[in-house]
Amino acid sequence: MNDPRPGPRAAAYPHAATIADFEHNFAAVRERIAAACRNNGRDPAGVRLLAVSKTVDEAHIRMAHAAGCRWLGENKVQEAYAKWQAMADLEDLRWSVIGHLQTNKARQVARFASEFQALDSLRVAAALDRHLQALGRGLDVLVQVNSSGEASKYGLPPDEVPAFLRQLPAFGALRVRGLMTLAALSDDAVRVRGCFALMRRLRERLRQDAPDGVDIQELSMGMSGDYALAVEEGATVVRVGQAIFGARATPDSDYWPPAP
Ligand SMILES: *Cc1c(COP(=O)(O)O)cnc(C)c1O
Repeated sequence: MNDPRPGPRAAAYPHAATIADFEHNFAAVRERIAAACRNNGRDPAGVRLLAVSKTVDEAHIRMAHAAGCRWLGENKVQEAYAKWQAMADLEDLRWSVIGHLQTNKARQVARFASEFQALDSLRVAAALDRHLQALGRGLDVLVQVNSSGEASKYGLPPDEVPAFLRQLPAFGALRVRGLMTLAALSDDAVRVRGCFALMRRLRERLRQDAPDGVDIQELSMGMSGDYALAVEEGATVVRVGQAIFGARATPDSDYWPPAP
């Protein structure tokens, strides 16, 4: 699946190669977040910028850290775990796993992650909880929702989320913080905004009758191509890779199931 968004990615997202480049890119993204916040009366401090570093090598991640980056998002566990080990000296750097998880990788996630954003099954919840309990750790989790209705997206259908949330207090090591989604990969801003608005309404509904211990505040949505729209619709976390690090050579189908 090639990225169907208009315009060649390489031109839209030049590669950051120095600490100054990273400072520039972070400032540019933060400025767009601030502008989107101004549009709807939000405080920009309420939006966390998660720099998505998949495929990015250690040297460039260290530059991003030197430019002030403290949160990294990685889609694949193996890659994330190797980077965490290699950069264990950067003690203030936190890792968020944002990709679909298989139960056989839950042990690794329990060891190094500060957050897991793609929870969408009780099997994965149980596996994470078991390993976390053994390590005496807790983990912030977000439930992934399929807001686009596309078969090519992971995540629970919106109408299954309330019943799913009711099961989660059984897993004492998981701290449920909110919801995550990928919008439709479309250049139709109305369609993309519709996905984000659906998430905002879902969060409002869930907040009213969330089970004890389940705290639905976070809304992780928006990537390089659509984060400003997401912030306008209430995102509290944006996951931005290419607009910070530069265009990725690998196609998105390496990370999401291909469209049928
Ligand atoms: C890669 C990825 C992103 C970031 O995409 P960019 O186009 O690099 O901004 C966001 N969310 C998930 C789940 C991803 O895998």
